[in-house]
Amino acid sequence: MLLDPKHINTHIYLVLSGELLVCLEPKIGNPLVRLGVGDCVGELSIIDASAPSAYVVASVPTQLLVISKPVLWRMLAVQQVMALNLLHVLARRIRENNTVLLGSLELQRQYRSKAETDALTGLHNRAWFEEVFPKQLELCERTGQHVSLLMVDIDHFKKVNDQYGHTCGDEALRHMGNLLRRNLRSTDLCARYGGEEMIVLMPGTEIIHAQLTADRLRESVADTPLTLQDGRELTIQVSGGIAQWQPGTTLNDLIRSADQALYRAKEGGRNRIAVHALPTHMDFS
Ligand code: GH3
Ligand code: MG
Ligand code: MG
Repeated sequence: MLLDPKHINTHIYLVLSGELLVCLEPKIGNPLVRLGVGDCVGELSIIDASAPSAYVVASVPTQLLVISKPVLWRMLAVQQVMALNLLHVLARRIRENNTVLLGSLELQRQYRSKAETDALTGLHNRAWFEEVFPKQLELCERTGQHVSLLMVDIDHFKKVNDQYGHTCGDEALRHMGNLLRRNLRSTDLCARYGGEEMIVLMPGTEIIHAQLTADRLRESVADTPLTLQDGRELTIQVSGGIAQWQPGTTLNDLIRSADQALYRAKEGGRNRIAVHALPTHMDFS
């Protein structure tokens, strides 16, 4: 181990033979950068007199030219070309660090996207909706926008699984995800709520318009048979419940209202959309 973040570095090292690895952990494996003959290391920490930000480990027996800090400063003072060379080395090091940083940001983005996505349908998952929906409600409350919520549930899905098998049931769920994506506006927020139930928040949408959207979706599901991988055709139907958000009420209240409407749609014969009635104002005058 040549350099580590616990010790201040006072030298610059030039690789004469062998190889050094720059690692985030004090062990060989998964190095950020490999340094070969002609590369140098230690230049950043020697200039700002701080501990190195990573571990530098020799992966094989390695020969180094070791230059101490006072010698380096003297060399730089008398040889302008040395100073220029060091600037080049530093610029390259910064670029390498930026590349590593961008790579890790991309990785973070991928992990985040996986954590927020339902693997089966490709829709957002419950964790995502629990984070995003309350924020969206808050925003609508501040800007005075209407918000409607739709709960959609596949009709007799247990029978679909029983009759066609669980794998075909999964295909039907993916199909449902595609139809949702196709029928909703880009501003609508949609997630798989659980099982065969999906939830859609429609900012800026009054209940009457939400009802039209939901009915269009319901019709599209009923009119679009799915050709299964084994060639059979499967048509599913959905029921939906809609509620309009009321100022002063919570997301849970809104979900409960939409759920009650969904229950009524099921009771009413399925393949239909039911609306949760807005509370009427009592007039005592
Ligand atoms: P209803 O019309 O009243 O909604 O009847 P239903 O049979 O759809 O209702 P219920 O909620 O009782 O059943 C839902 C079924 O959905 C039960 C479960 O096996 C199935 N299911 C839930 N998640 C998945 C899944 O990821 N894949 C498959 N294939 N089936 C699922
Ligand atoms: Mg169902
Ligand atoms: Mg259900």
